[in-house]
Amino acid sequence: MTIAMNDLSTTRPATREFLAQEHRLYIDGEWVAAETGKSFAVLDPATGEQVSRAAEGEAADINRAVDAARRAFENRAWQDMKPALRERLLHRLADLMEERTDILAELDSIDNGKTVGIAGGVDIPCAIDCFRFMAGIPSKLQGSTLKPSVPFMPDGKFFAYTNHVPVGVVGAIIPWNFPTLLAAWKLAPALAAGCTVVLKPAEETPLTALYLAQLAEEAGFPTGVLNVVTGFGHTAGAALASHPGVDKVTFTGSTEVGRLILQAATGNLKKVTLELGGKSPAIVLPDADMDIAIPGAASAIFFNHGQTCCAGSRLYVHKSCFDQVIAGVAEIAKAMKVGPGLDPLTEIGPMVSRVQQERVHSYIESGKEQGAEVVAGGTVPQGGGYFVNPTVFVNTRPDMRIVSEEIFGPVLVAMPYSDLDEVLAEANNSDYGLSASIWSRDVATIHTLAPKLRAGTVWVNCHNIIDAALPFGGFKQSGWGRENGVDAVTAFTETQAVCVAL
Ligand code: ADP
Repeated sequence: MTIAMNDLSTTRPATREFLAQEHRLYIDGEWVAAETGKSFAVLDPATGEQVSRAAEGEAADINRAVDAARRAFENRAWQDMKPALRERLLHRLADLMEERTDILAELDSIDNGKTVGIAGGVDIPCAIDCFRFMAGIPSKLQGSTLKPSVPFMPDGKFFAYTNHVPVGVVGAIIPWNFPTLLAAWKLAPALAAGCTVVLKPAEETPLTALYLAQLAEEAGFPTGVLNVVTGFGHTAGAALASHPGVDKVTFTGSTEVGRLILQAATGNLKKVTLELGGKSPAIVLPDADMDIAIPGAASAIFFNHGQTCCAGSRLYVHKSCFDQVIAGVAEIAKAMKVGPGLDPLTEIGPMVSRVQQERVHSYIESGKEQGAEVVAGGTVPQGGGYFVNPTVFVNTRPDMRIVSEEIFGPVLVAMPYSDLDEVLAEANNSDYGLSASIWSRDVATIHTLAPKLRAGTVWVNCHNIIDAALPFGGFKQSGWGRENGVDAVTAFTETQAVCVAL
């Protein structure tokens, strides 16, 4: 089967206009070329063809951006702005995003390959919601009042209180799987806290970070509060992670790069938040409602083409219903329409890049070589784009690479189990601990199992449900810290104790 091309003529004129620009970096309120003058091609993964160009920022550009963010932090215009006004600006940005949802969705779809329906129905609304949620927090940030006892000063009287002081300049490094949404997960809480930010989007998907910077400019954010440097990980990303002028780095990406970020942060002991990989189990108990569990297990892995850190990539099904569930999931996989993201009928778009397509394909081949059985997909369609057919493996062993390693593509491994102890041990048998799901109607079993799962999020009868109100992050090698939730803003602050002798 040959896949049709992405038809850019179906997009809005404003989307095409944006693509046609030779994009610059956004530093200190100015749109500037990279110091080297270099730029790189932005490819449409559905065709492999260039659709735009972005400036290739490197260490010198990161220096300029961090200096600008530092000046904007130190001049206090942002951190001392009345919380209600800071909130209004964040809402203004959310309003502008809402007005341009279609353009943002088309840009994310063209840049990443995801379907325009998912981009417009999930990514962009969730990004807007994140800005609105975090916009509600500045006016409600509270310290506490304390009465220290101070045992070594029996006659002393003291009063104390705590402040949440913005941590300073934030370096935000994001991956390509949810370009706008993950930018929002970093920018919204950091800006709400009063920090200034240098954002480095992934080299595969630089477009919507630049578009967001345009909207922030239009919204009227003070100069230097938000800076965007596009470029590659080993140059721009590494320079940002190691920069002595950055107080906190917040990173989403692979566990491998997470380790590098951590090492780079040691120079000035910057604060670090990491949201890394996963190999999340979906567990179907024998009493599950199969009309929910079967499509749910398919969606857990195939949503966003499996390019989701919390994808339900390991499916554990009780042996009494294993055949039924696998037949159902395989049927869904076989029926999914693989195609370019802009085609409204597409359910599985391309992988983000040739490298990613080859990586996923090599995992599929390794599964076959190690003796696993393909019951759906297992192939790469013909054509120019970076497509992979949705794939389901059975007859696996825990030592197979497809079972233990994160594939980050539409590849599911399914295993039968006999009892709860067995499935719990298998589900937790991973270096990762980002998420898990339980599919069941048995309330007691669900709530017995959930706290024993070593995972930052446990979904029940659902999977991949993210929300600005829900803390998100990983146990084990899936990361450090949590994003979202009311604590996301305080994560961009230092707690300061003020102690007064009366
Ligand atoms: P993925 O595996 O999802 O492509 P990566 O972890 O490779 O994710 O990349 C996520 C982000 O980290 C991207 O913005 C990338 O440019 C950046 N990055 C890659 N290598 C480094 C590095 N050595 N230092 C800092 N950032 C990096």
